[in-house]
Amino acid sequence: MFINQDCIKAIYCFSKMNNWKQFCGFIKESYDNLKSCDEGNVASYIPKLATADPNLFGISVVSYTGEEYHIGDTSTSFCVQSCVKPLLYMLALEEKGSEYVAKHIGREPSGQRFNSLMFNSENLPYNPLINAGAIMSTSLIKSEEKRDMRYDHIHKSWRTIISGDSDCIGFDNSVFLSEKDSASRNIALSYLMEENSVFPNGTNIENTLDLYFQSCSMTMTTKYLARFAAVMANSGLDLHTGERRISASVLKDTLCVMYSSGMYDYSGRWSTDIGIPAKSGVAGTVFAVIPNVCGICVFSPPLDEMGNSVRAVRFFTELSRRFSIHIFETFIQGLDKKVRLTSVHDEKVADLYKACKEGDVVKLTSILSEDDVDVNVSDYDG
Ligand code: GLN
Repeated sequence: MFINQDCIKAIYCFSKMNNWKQFCGFIKESYDNLKSCDEGNVASYIPKLATADPNLFGISVVSYTGEEYHIGDTSTSFCVQSCVKPLLYMLALEEKGSEYVAKHIGREPSGQRFNSLMFNSENLPYNPLINAGAIMSTSLIKSEEKRDMRYDHIHKSWRTIISGDSDCIGFDNSVFLSEKDSASRNIALSYLMEENSVFPNGTNIENTLDLYFQSCSMTMTTKYLARFAAVMANSGLDLHTGERRISASVLKDTLCVMYSSGMYDYSGRWSTDIGIPAKSGVAGTVFAVIPNVCGICVFSPPLDEMGNSVRAVRFFTELSRRFSIHIFETFIQGLDKKVRLTSVHDEKVADLYKACKEGDVVKLTSILSEDDVDVNVSDYDG
């Protein structure tokens, strides 16, 4: 017997274990509890978003080995809005490299509203997840190409990452037009950045803004956004083939800013209380990454005063009360008595593999003498 990455993955993937059922049970229970919540208001600063049905509610979970659980309105498409910002950052990093991108976009939480007209001391956007930063990321993507090619590149890259069907990402032209016609703030932000000479030379502001609005107007369901999060949870590798979809360093940089700045003015509380990288969008979506476990997407349009979906924030708050998902809790022992996303039984199997690898016969004998360790445990393909 030998131990390799796949063994470790198989051992630790909670979806193959007893507590996957417990986890799905929690999601159903939480969905049922939150369904009657009628707090919050749908976004209205983009007029078309104000027509969203506040009762829509869906939760999707995709484990990093590709198992899925969906409940509620998980086949209803919504505009991704700010949930596209991590992708725009990834594409800019992938194409231009982190050093170049850092000359145009900072990596600090802004402490300001997502559409604030404030910049850092170098006149750069604070980070890529506020509007100024996402507009800047957009300006860096395939800037030499024609407009249609640039949009296709963003669309195709996302589709490739999530291994989606041809119709997995749609486009809501009404929202695009509505946002474009009421975009004074984003226009102001962009011209301020131009005035400060922080865009790459030759940037066409109008084209950049159009491409940014078009990216925000792409539509998806929770199923696919959860799959995007799951690929991120799986170190950027395809959930089924293991092929690399997002470069390791690009993923690391993106998860870092999602952790520190993904939830608007709630980001600090979120990283302390919930503790996983996430991104929120004004259409009422939050997607979050539990590294090495799963991606989760919650959609429910009514927002709180910070601009985050009320039901989504409550769902993740409850999730983190019940399960040990906080990235620091998962390695600091003895913090609490929450359910870890591995069961005791499977931790013993992990110890068993480790003992084999190290040739530790004493330890091996002791583990095997315990009744509840099944040495023949295997996953679906044996
Ligand atoms: N397109 C929106 C905007 O630029 C995105 C904002 C969001 O989802 N927070 O304002």
